[in-house]
Amino acid sequence: MEIRDRYAPSPTGLQHIGGVRTALFNYLFARSQGGAFILRLEDTDRTRSDAAFVQNLYDTFTWLGFRWDEGPDRGGPVGPYIQSERFALYRAYAQALIEKGAAYYCFCSAARLDALRAEQSLAHAKETGYDRHCRTLSPAEATARIAAGEAPVIRLKIPLKETTRFVDRLLGTIEWKNDALTPDPVLLKSDGFPTYHLANVVDDHLMGISHVLRAQEWLPSTPLHLILYQCFGWDPPVFCHLPMVLGLDGKKLSKRHGATSIDEFRSQGYLPEALINYVALLGASYEEGKDLYTLDELCSRFSLDKLNKAPAIFDYKKLTWYNDQYIRMKTDGDLAVLALPYGVKAGLFGEPGTEPDPGQRAAFTAAMALIKERVSFLHEIPEKIRYLFTEPPVPSASEFIPKKLDISKTIALLGMGRDLIEPLAVLGDAEAEAFIKERAKQEGVKLGDLMMPLRVALTGTRVSPPLFGTIRILGATRSGERVNRALAALRGV
Ligand code: GLU
Ligand code: ZN
Repeated sequence: MEIRDRYAPSPTGLQHIGGVRTALFNYLFARSQGGAFILRLEDTDRTRSDAAFVQNLYDTFTWLGFRWDEGPDRGGPVGPYIQSERFALYRAYAQALIEKGAAYYCFCSAARLDALRAEQSLAHAKETGYDRHCRTLSPAEATARIAAGEAPVIRLKIPLKETTRFVDRLLGTIEWKNDALTPDPVLLKSDGFPTYHLANVVDDHLMGISHVLRAQEWLPSTPLHLILYQCFGWDPPVFCHLPMVLGLDGKKLSKRHGATSIDEFRSQGYLPEALINYVALLGASYEEGKDLYTLDELCSRFSLDKLNKAPAIFDYKKLTWYNDQYIRMKTDGDLAVLALPYGVKAGLFGEPGTEPDPGQRAAFTAAMALIKERVSFLHEIPEKIRYLFTEPPVPSASEFIPKKLDISKTIALLGMGRDLIEPLAVLGDAEAEAFIKERAKQEGVKLGDLMMPLRVALTGTRVSPPLFGTIRILGATRSGERVNRALAALRGV
């Protein structure tokens, strides 16, 4: 069997973690099976669908870096891939169901349905929803009313005595008594627009979808879809309802828990690799003890057998850990490209918004090696390295003075340090360390006591990125100037 699956979002909101998880699992499943992954836009809700959300969808997946094989933007053999361009099809299929006696016209007005709903809620009725009022209208009567100008909807005539049973690939056998299902849902609205159920089933069939991997919130729709497949005489796809995604408190993941839209994660400095890796683990387990997977590794390892039934818990801390890891794995050059916009915005190179000159750009790239292990997010980078671009204020004397020493010893140590700058500026880390250790020994001072005042003079604080790298980036001249400035300040005390 040809494996074909799809991501079928409705462009009525920003792309969020749940949607991206569904898309990713479909992508991984298709890839793992040598199948095709399709994007279909389910924009049947014309009032809530918005071109801006379609754009957000494209932007999100461009950023994430995985793509569908067929879709509205790249075409394919079974297009169009946008439901609003397929309305004539749905009308024809709804009509076919009417002709088979599997669907019927309903002429109930909105006012009648509202009154019905009010009545049911007042009576705390067990049976809610449509009362199947028009189910028994004769075709002749319906034809006459249409000819007279009434605009009916088309409803599915659910066979009431039967039970709909299917085997969910993850959840096992699921059974619904047909008379307990949403009563005769609308398939085609009076304006000729299809509802989700009709369009979704017709398209999955016409697009040759073999597997439907979708969020568990769609589970109640599945029996209706199976009834539709049966009415049309089509084989249904395999259904697999993915485990839910919950927050740490066990409630459905929502804004209360933190970022949920990919835009937010993106602007908070998460890397796409981290998001993909973490999202791939939301409800699936791959190898014991292995946390980090590239997209290619996920493609080859994914299998429906590795899905968990239990809900997945979205842990922002764990995601942050992934971000740490992927930041560290970047080359200095790649990380600099990603972090540069944050530096520009933070005013690292002048007024906020100022682009770096070539020297600043080189320093910025070199600085990545110093802070890679010290940040979790891209936006943390500028403040950690601002001292490389702007002269840091000289801190108070007490900051410079090592434990158990006094100001005059500190001045002597800093003077010693100044003499080391020139050689240190051209040595690699290992040589620099050996060199300064040797000097401390010769001078009879503690290594820490020699390094600390120098660090404070160069960076403005005791806790900073590595000293040797800092000296190399600042260069001997600028480093020497900073030490002189600090010495002058200390002598003035
Ligand atoms: N349009 C539905 C959505 O927004 C598709 C659900 C499905 O996959 O069948 O998620
Ligand atoms: Zn009716």
